[in-house]
Amino acid sequence: MRILFLGAPGVGKGTQAERVGEAMGIPHISTGEMFRRHVGSRTSLGLRVAEILAQGDLVPDVLTVEMMLERLRDPDTINGYILDGFPRNLAQVHALDGAIGDYALDAVVVLEASNEVLKERMLARGRADDTEESVSNRLDVYERETAPLIHLYRERGLVVSVDGVGDVEKITASIQTALAGHF
Ligand code: ADP
Repeated sequence: MRILFLGAPGVGKGTQAERVGEAMGIPHISTGEMFRRHVGSRTSLGLRVAEILAQGDLVPDVLTVEMMLERLRDPDTINGYILDGFPRNLAQVHALDGAIGDYALDAVVVLEASNEVLKERMLARGRADDTEESVSNRLDVYERETAPLIHLYRERGLVVSVDGVGDVEKITASIQTALAGHF
């Protein structure tokens, strides 16, 4: 099963993608986590992207796509995966389509919450890039670059929308129910 989680920053994609991946026995692949690991271990990629992450801008597609396509060749992806944070713009969709095929995703889970909830959660979370400026930039980048992908995947018949507000366990259960209904 290949599932993509889409949603604004702060909506809880990472938390839910991890939980659903664990329940399904497939890896959760988060570009944000991968970049943060590179920054933390000061690899050459990490040094190149640290400032971009801090400002909440998108890492250039060439770097992101290369890192992801390499990850998707790892043997643990054989039975599928949960993608979290990639693709995040149209060029990345095309890169993914080229690598796994236009119809290779089985579902796209869209998590939803209001901008007020998103801002509140991120500022409370306090990750290094959760400053007021970066948060507001990431919300803009999401609206401009990533939200349009929902329409594209809806046209492919893949979208499953789930309310991202409430109890973590209940949201996981809603996602699982929605996916079961989709297949
Ligand atoms: P959030 O969804 O809260 O912004 P993520 O962990 O998904 O958090 O992403 C953190 C940062 O990593 C982004 O602001 C961006 O700089 C970078 N990033 C993650 N995924 C991508 C991607 N697909 N393309 C470009 N940059 C990315």
